[in-house]
Amino acid sequence: MSKIPFITKEKAEEIIQKYPTPFHIYDEKAIRENARKLKQAFSWNKGFKEFFAVKATPNPTILKILKEEGCGTDCSSYSELLMSKKCGFKNPEIMFSSNDTPFEEFKYANEIGAIINLDDITHIDMLKEACGIPETISCRFNPGGKFSISTTIMDNPGDAKYGMTKEQIKEAFLRLKELGAKNFGIHSFLASNTVSNEYYPTLAGILFKLAVELKNETGVDIKFINLSGGVGVPYTPDKEPNDILVIGEGVRKVFEEILVPAGMGDVSIYTELGRFMLAPYGHLVTTAIHEKHIYKEYIGVDACAVNLMRPAMYGAYHHITVLGKENEPCDHVYDITGSLCENNDKFAIDRKLPKIDIGDILVIHDTGAHGFAMGYNYNGKLKSAELLLREDGSVVEIRRPETVDDYFATLDNYWNVI
Ligand SMILES: *Cc1c(COP(=O)(O)O)cnc(C)c1O
Repeated sequence: MSKIPFITKEKAEEIIQKYPTPFHIYDEKAIRENARKLKQAFSWNKGFKEFFAVKATPNPTILKILKEEGCGTDCSSYSELLMSKKCGFKNPEIMFSSNDTPFEEFKYANEIGAIINLDDITHIDMLKEACGIPETISCRFNPGGKFSISTTIMDNPGDAKYGMTKEQIKEAFLRLKELGAKNFGIHSFLASNTVSNEYYPTLAGILFKLAVELKNETGVDIKFINLSGGVGVPYTPDKEPNDILVIGEGVRKVFEEILVPAGMGDVSIYTELGRFMLAPYGHLVTTAIHEKHIYKEYIGVDACAVNLMRPAMYGAYHHITVLGKENEPCDHVYDITGSLCENNDKFAIDRKLPKIDIGDILVIHDTGAHGFAMGYNYNGKLKSAELLLREDGSVVEIRRPETVDDYFATLDNYWNVI
């Protein structure tokens, strides 16, 4: 199996005339189709809503496309809240699922009508002082231990900094109720980038049982259960993608087994997907500018880890297509590198690819989420533009590239301190 880029060599060459590499480009049509499929998968649930995790792709145009498809946003910082507000998201379209939350951010989240999802029981007092306890409130759950699906360990919540224990969440609900909260939600995020149709149904089973227990023991009115993020995408070409329709049906099944008999059939299901909504629909497009032959074969490109940090940070695999050479044999082995003075600045290590010539255009796949967003400025490298491939085939810029003036902006008044 192979991954097929959503732009051809001819299209890339046309785009590069106007917008030089490196750049990120997103596929509007595919983003919309995927968002509609998610909505369809959960159409059995009357209150279903996806709150797109802004941190994955914090771009106003992307947020507005998702808004048109019925999504809200999930924020974790002041800037993300402000971006959501500027894009026109209103109460109750913003979820504030933060942790280690600054006092001022509770205040601002409440001011713009975001649903606050408390990460810890000790945050109740801070929230009360910051803005009072809102009528609608959510708490984040951490079951501890290891999280498995049948016999496979998926992740290790016991080691994660997020969420409250079961005892704490009970106590938190009782306190919040006493302080005037009326509508309650439960949130949990137990495993990241799961390529399994079982993740959401398994998580839903845990949260639905907890919801029944909490309702019985605290008497609170549970209005929504937030399955958060974690539904993944196949970064390697050999893996099968998740089937969101199967996932939606899987959640429906446990909903009908657990919540409906408990008289909780009107609970809304929320999601906070980031990666699943965007990753496959973004490419990082870069040009080969050097070849180097020492102990290994290297191709140097004009993008670097500043544009896509995941390979350097996690050793993450991102598939690479050399445009125009899709059908040529992968009979060369290369390390594909950026220019940072860091030996981990490699988009691929020992990757089998067709022969690459200087000037070849490379597509790095699945960079639509947690790609541009993780960018930084090491070595004084600047962040790239973001472009949108529209449904009619035209391309628009949705963020200009950084300039050296942007990079120096925080130094404007500091050239002559001493
Ligand atoms: C990062 C994050 C998400 C999105 O995660 P994905 O893996 O991109 O789906 C959702 N909710 C919270 C609280 C997060 O921190």
